[in-house]
Amino acid sequence: MFRKLRGIFGGDGDGGGGGGFTTVRDGSGPQGEPFEGPLIRLQGIDRAFVIDDVTTHALRDVNLEVERGEFVAVNGPSGSGKTTLLSICGLLEAPTAGTYMLNGHDVSRLPASARAAVRNREVGFIFQSFNLIGDLTVAENVELPLTYLGLPVAERGERVAAALERFDMADRAKSMPSQLSGGQQQRVAVARAVAGDPEIILADEPTGNLNSHQAETVIAMLTELHAAGATILLVTHDPRWKQTVQRSVELFDGTIVA
Ligand code: ADP
Ligand code: MG
Repeated sequence: MFRKLRGIFGGDGDGGGGGGFTTVRDGSGPQGEPFEGPLIRLQGIDRAFVIDDVTTHALRDVNLEVERGEFVAVNGPSGSGKTTLLSICGLLEAPTAGTYMLNGHDVSRLPASARAAVRNREVGFIFQSFNLIGDLTVAENVELPLTYLGLPVAERGERVAAALERFDMADRAKSMPSQLSGGQQQRVAVARAVAGDPEIILADEPTGNLNSHQAETVIAMLTELHAAGATILLVTHDPRWKQTVQRSVELFDGTIVA
C-alpha cells in the first residue's frame, strides 16, 4: 500500500532517514526491500495547545514504537492524552515537536493535504460514538472513505458489499444509522474503517457506549482483524480487552509512564 505514497511524497528520497521509498510494505521499492523497522515510530513527540496564552501539553516527549501486526492498548486517566496520541498516529493532527516515522517515512511535517491523503489510505478510525453520518445509508457510510480514495464505482461497490458481509451487516445495507442499535452501528463503523484496507486501525474507546454483549461482538471483530494481520492501537478502560491485546502503554499527564 505504501507504493501509493510515492505520488503523494513526490518520489524517492524524502530525507526522512528511513531510506526514502525503498520501504514499501509489499517489497516493490527500488531495491525490492520491504522496510524492516517499526510501522510507527514516535520520537520526542509533543503536542501543545495554546488557549488564551495558556499552554496545555496534551503530549510531552512521547516515544513509542509499534511493529506491523501488533495490537497495543493505550490506557490512562481522562485527560492523559490518549485521544491526542491516536490523532497523531492517525495523522489527524501534527505534532508540535518531535518526529513521526510511518513505515520509515517522516510524516511529522507534511502539509495538511498530504497528511489527509496518507490518512485516507493508511488509517481506519473507530470511535466511541460510532460517528456514522446520519443522512447516509449504511452502505453509503462504508463507501464514503473509498470515494475519498478515488476508487472506481464498481470496486467501491464490491468492497462495501464484502465489508458488510464480513461483519454480518449486509442485510442492513440500505438502513439509516438511526434504525440500528449501537452494536450494529459500531459494526458498520468497523466495516467502514477496514473497507479501504488500511495499514493501521485506531480505535478510541470503541466499546465505551455498548452493552456487554455488543462489546463482545466488537472485541471479537478486532481480534479477528488482528489475527488477519492488522496493526491496531486501542484506547480502552474495558478490562475485557486484556486477553486480546499484546501489550499496553500507560499515559499520565501526556507522558508514557509504563
Ligand atoms: P484523553 O483522551 O486521555 O482523555 P485528550 O488527548 O483528549 O485526553 O486530552 C489531553 C489534554 O489535552 C487534555 O488536557 C485536553 O483538555 C487537552 N486537549 C485535547 N485536545 C485539545 C484541543 N483541541 N484544544 C485544547 N486542548 C486540548
Ligand atoms: Mg479521549
